[in-house]
Amino acid sequence: MQCSVCGKEAVINLPAYHKALCSEHFVQWYYEKTKHFTKKLTRPGDRIALAVSGGKDSIALALFFNEYRKELDVDPFLFHIDLGIPDYSKVARRYVEKLSSELGMELFVYDLKKETGKALVDLRRGSRPPCSACGIIKRYLMNKVPRELGADSLATGHNLDDQVENFFKNWTSQHFDWLAKQKPFLPGEHPKLLPKIKPLFERTEEENMAYVKYNGFELPTFRCPFSHRQRSKWRLIADEIESRNPGFKLSVVKALENFDYPVGVTGLRECSICGEPTSQDVCSFCKIIGKTTQP
Ligand code: SF4
Ligand code: ZN
Ligand code: ZN
Repeated sequence: MQCSVCGKEAVINLPAYHKALCSEHFVQWYYEKTKHFTKKLTRPGDRIALAVSGGKDSIALALFFNEYRKELDVDPFLFHIDLGIPDYSKVARRYVEKLSSELGMELFVYDLKKETGKALVDLRRGSRPPCSACGIIKRYLMNKVPRELGADSLATGHNLDDQVENFFKNWTSQHFDWLAKQKPFLPGEHPKLLPKIKPLFERTEEENMAYVKYNGFELPTFRCPFSHRQRSKWRLIADEIESRNPGFKLSVVKALENFDYPVGVTGLRECSICGEPTSQDVCSFCKIIGKTTQP
């Protein structure tokens, strides 16, 4: 396999784009593609919070923004939540701190245990994995804390493979309103909700891993002990279709960008305890944490 640009040995094959690239031309290609896409999602002068868990997609996001900020007038910073998960959170936090110092990019860490007195594992119900509580906690904090730090938007590292998997799940369960929210740009529906952007919407997991590696960064090997080790059936099905019909996944996310469905009025108000947007009297975060009074 030879690089389609210079003829050197290629390190990655990109059948959806009818090309293979060497490490140097791949890094250039990835940056240019992502830049073109991200320009639609950002405005000059934007202060952008980058949600970094320490996973490969979030590292690729930070590396991309490190270049993007040199060329376009944006002010990114890293935001990390230390969930206090044994054998995982400490390693992930150290990795993100190292990334911040190597890139010279500001980092804010929210330490769940320190701030609320409870780590994620304290919030488990029975023997069930704590992922549902974790989702609520992350959604809440990734909006509130960056907003208070002056962010104009929050960028996450959701990749193309995540989007296609969710497309299958949402389509087959007829959650068309959720499908309509699978967009690379979601405006805040409330003055206290930050707009959310997904700059890696068209980038595959493989491309993100290669971008981290060929930028000279170590690929993270740690993972949350509660994460699934096996690929979902939808991911396997999507991979199979892609291998027979390269470009299939890209066509799905391009269709998602244009998919519209009336979502209806969300009826958001402010939590009676913390004041954050919610559809209930008391928000899910306050319920999980067991917060009963205003700070
Ligand atoms: Fe949270 Fe770990 Fe579950 Fe991910 S896998 S949602 S980090 S508990
Ligand atoms: Zn080349
Ligand atoms: Zn609340």
